[in-house]
Amino acid sequence: MSATVKIHDLSFAPYITQSKLEERIKVLAQNLDAQFLGKDPVFLAVLNGAFMFASDLFKMLKCQPELSFVKVSSYMGTQSTGRVDELIGLQTSLKDRHVIVIEDILDTGVTMDKIMSLLQAEQPASISICALLIKPNTYMGKYAPQFIGFEIDDAFVVGYGLDYKERGRELPAIYQLIK
Ligand code: 5GP
Repeated sequence: MSATVKIHDLSFAPYITQSKLEERIKVLAQNLDAQFLGKDPVFLAVLNGAFMFASDLFKMLKCQPELSFVKVSSYMGTQSTGRVDELIGLQTSLKDRHVIVIEDILDTGVTMDKIMSLLQAEQPASISICALLIKPNTYMGKYAPQFIGFEIDDAFVVGYGLDYKERGRELPAIYQLIK
């Protein structure tokens, strides 16, 4: 992986390589297929951060998944704000469907708690969480994610869809803030 990247005023070091991501996402896809093959699942990818993860994951799924992109308020800066807007972008009915939420990262869990309570109102058959990254030390969400890519420490990360002030999403690997 290439060296340090500078985004705005901050520097980030290589953290999870492209090949590690690919390897792990392949396993996640196999696990999702094992659970949802034949169940007509609908995946909801949370914009903006999950777009790249969702795209790579989808190429590996065999369970004939449907996909919608949903959006909540964006996260600014290097700390979670806890402010979350309404979920927008839901176009199909989720009633009696098996729903899988695709997220980039679970930090405090505030965003996911809000998404989950909004989705429960739609009366799906089941809701699962598939997150590429989780920070176990900070996660206080009410729902245990069933599908996790990597457990990471608390430092801020960018790349592979994740931004720092809207930059860095295009990086094909994950980088961690150098303190
Ligand atoms: P939570 O509500 O779980 O605290 O935060 C979830 C959202 O905060 C994520 O979807 C993501 O947009 C943002 N976030 C949390 N930690 C990080 C991080 O380390 N890097 C980036 N780029 N975003 C983060």
